[in-house]
Amino acid sequence: MNVAYKTFSFEGEKGTWTAFSGLCKGCGLCIEKCPKKCLAWSSNLGIYGTPLVEPHIDECIACGICQSVCPDCAIAVLKKK
Ligand code: SF4
Ligand code: SF4
Repeated sequence: MNVAYKTFSFEGEKGTWTAFSGLCKGCGLCIEKCPKKCLAWSSNLGIYGTPLVEPHIDECIACGICQSVCPDCAIAVLKKK
């Protein structure tokens, strides 16, 4: 399968959430650990053809836990000041 590597960014009230499809292996750890339960599987695919994740950005508090727990650095969270 030919998967183009893309960056998916979501701008929310609390910050900006970004996923890198070229890094995500679809392990689901970020979904499991999000304290707001606002991460879900995406219809976009990661590097191994597994689903990428995406946030319900209105519920995201930009805590950065998903970024911290991702073993592959596939998420970046930038909290607004
Ligand atoms: S930054 Fe926090 S609230 Fe937002 S998706 Fe990641 S773990 Fe969930
Ligand atoms: S923890 Fe990282 S590699 Fe695992 S599903 Fe989430 S973004 Fe993808």
